Amino acid sequence: MIDSNITERDRYGPAVAEPYETYAAVTPASRRCAAQAAAYLPGGDSRTPLFHAPYPLAFEEGHGCRVVDLDGNELLDFTGNHSSLIHGYGHPRLLEAVADQLRKGTAFPGLTRPQVEFARQLCERVESLELVRFTNSGTEATLQAVRAARAYTGRHLLVKIEGGYNGSWDEVMVSTHPSAEVAGDLERPAAVPATEGLAPQVESTVLVLPFNEEAAMRRLLEERGPSIAAVIVEPVLGSAGMIPADADYLRMLREVTQRLGILLVFDEVISFRVAYGGAQEHYGVSPDLTCLGKAIGGGLPLGVVGGRSDIMAVFDPSEHAPRVPHPGSYNANPLSLVAGAVSLELLTQGEVDRLNRHGDALRSELSAAFAEAGLAVQVTGLGSLFGIHFVRRPVKSYRDALRSDKDLRHRLFLGLIGEGVLIDPRGTGCLSTALGEGELAAFVRAVRKVAPSVAEADGPRGHEPLGSDGRRGG
Ligand code: PMP
Repeated sequence: MIDSNITERDRYGPAVAEPYETYAAVTPASRRCAAQAAAYLPGGDSRTPLFHAPYPLAFEEGHGCRVVDLDGNELLDFTGNHSSLIHGYGHPRLLEAVADQLRKGTAFPGLTRPQVEFARQLCERVESLELVRFTNSGTEATLQAVRAARAYTGRHLLVKIEGGYNGSWDEVMVSTHPSAEVAGDLERPAAVPATEGLAPQVESTVLVLPFNEEAAMRRLLEERGPSIAAVIVEPVLGSAGMIPADADYLRMLREVTQRLGILLVFDEVISFRVAYGGAQEHYGVSPDLTCLGKAIGGGLPLGVVGGRSDIMAVFDPSEHAPRVPHPGSYNANPLSLVAGAVSLELLTQGEVDRLNRHGDALRSELSAAFAEAGLAVQVTGLGSLFGIHFVRRPVKSYRDALRSDKDLRHRLFLGLIGEGVLIDPRGTGCLSTALGEGELAAFVRAVRKVAPSVAEADGPRGHEPLGSDGRRGG
């Protein structure tokens, strides 16, 4: 329970209070807002990953690449609302398109031109998309993709990746972030529920396989092949810390799934931005189905499931009842679709290239800044996505990322806020087209300023370490 009268020292003890006290000193209005929110929302929260100790920031507004919190602190935004605002806040073309559509109407009981237009735009842009359907979120897109795969193949097993996050519905809320104690054998990971309240059969319909472990993946797919409907995989493992797939791993997945009649589903909710036609274009691997979300809605809620027309036909209601009905009151709402269409138009090949150049430069400059401070850090990512891991060995999988020191990561996160830079509490982030070279340089300067105090905490630590959510002893 957030109580604005209790001090950080009372809550966390003197040994760990220092970074929290510094944060609290400049964010009193966020703290009051969190305390008020807790009266009406459990823990003052509606979106679990945003919560962090001692309490999350509350925001007033955003402009371009900057956000302003309730205390008037201005921060350079390297989160883009967790990779969804690829053009920053309030791009004039987006505002104009949305305002125009607002006047016309926000939802209609039938087809609209924006629906047809955006579907055409997506199918022309992404080679593997022959037909698409629109949902309101990435969660619904992955749910529909897996249901379609089961209907199409007549098989029941879903393969998901350890450390992969594919939305919040039951069968993908398995092994999203298992602890080392329960994760099981690396080559044959356990299916670990990521939440209480899952239907009891979930663990028997989901097979969890390791990321970037080619031989183990191939072996397990071949063993269980005839029962597997689909493999769902992110080309860049997002919430585990922006870990790119090895090209050979994805190529192997394509070859084995094709041979065994398993559908390959790319969850490109985060990774789409890495190339004009998505990460599938970057890797040269064509999935059977693709799920999109986040940036695809231009800052409004939108998800897309699409792919091969023979599979997508399971949704077709035109000749008889569809094999997979897909209702949804706000499916394909024109507000999100016009925002998505403008956002993709703005994301030209030139802009994708610029974002990716900036991403490459940022990753190498961040690595250098951490090394200068004597910190063992791996900076992962691809294109305009980055992940910061406080770990010595290269990070190729969720298990590698799990070793990252969460205490140091949290100190960096809070320290950067003090320097006017916002990243995701999990040490990840992304670039928007609104960020220029000056802002990237400011980010690196902020890291240089904060890194020494993080390195100091990395010395022989007298304090109790913070937990993975930034809470003491977790
Ligand atoms: N897939 C991936 C890879 C994601 O990162 C997310 C969201 N973090 C989702 C699916 C779910 O999308 P949404 O939050 O829109 O439901």
